[in-house]
Amino acid sequence: MKGQVEGGSRKLKDELVRGTAWNGGIRVFAARTTELVGELQRRHGTFPTATAALGRTATAAAMMGAMLKGKEKLTLQVKGDGPLGQIVVDANASAEIRGYVDHPQVHVASNDQGKLDVAGAVGRNGYIHVIKDLGLKEPYRGSVPIISGELAEDFTLYFADSEQSPSAVGLGVLVDVDGTVLHAGGFIVQVMPGLPEDQLERLERAISAMPQVTSLLDQGETPESLLHFLVGEDLTIHHSIEPVFRCKCSRERFEQALITLGKKELNSLIEEDGKAELHCHFCNEKYLFEAEELKALHSISDRQ
Ligand code: ZN
Repeated sequence: MKGQVEGGSRKLKDELVRGTAWNGGIRVFAARTTELVGELQRRHGTFPTATAALGRTATAAAMMGAMLKGKEKLTLQVKGDGPLGQIVVDANASAEIRGYVDHPQVHVASNDQGKLDVAGAVGRNGYIHVIKDLGLKEPYRGSVPIISGELAEDFTLYFADSEQSPSAVGLGVLVDVDGTVLHAGGFIVQVMPGLPEDQLERLERAISAMPQVTSLLDQGETPESLLHFLVGEDLTIHHSIEPVFRCKCSRERFEQALITLGKKELNSLIEEDGKAELHCHFCNEKYLFEAEELKALHSISDRQ
């Protein structure tokens, strides 16, 4: 890869860690999601600001997935009034993530600091919705208004408001001039009830002194070692997993969707288009069904 500092181009696997610190007074999560965000970028052809917005959301989703158990899963929807439209990311407890942004190829000028203007692209008005499927009859839903659009602050507000869990969230995506993802990652620190005041103050100081996640990753820090910047050495990692892109779409699922359209709709597809091309928003795969296949599905469909 061009433009890489010598020794800095070693490919590291993505990693997500979950742990505790300070006698269980703090819960911590940290992730390197460079490969994951790179795959999202390639699949959707996102331009840099869209890459950063989708990548930050995907990194948050990966870490929030690590708060789930078993077959539980969640969806993050970022619905701002900016040019990107909606961002949607699914994640589960096995660190399988997929996601998309409505308008991946939007050019947004850099902000005053010369950085990718994620807030300008997402929009500073709107909502973040978190939908969790916890295997209950009804999914859990939490929503907060967008307050910054840079996303880390917005997820911080979500934890405080919707989950009553005071937290600090850091998210970062560094994109090269050619649009490839150089580094991506983040952290979430959650304060458990009863943390002594002096420790809370110590944590707040560490959070405000925390360097950018992508700078730390660029210096070779790992998800575990970047947590030392926040909590020092008193850190216990309980779980480590590789977050991966995974979409559960398949040809069979799209066949089912076509069958449920009914005979009338299928007929008009056959007669007007002679084929159907279906598209999965999440992974950008296309599924082509020729007229013969549509006729076969037509004969199975029991809906008019
Ligand atoms: Zn898919």
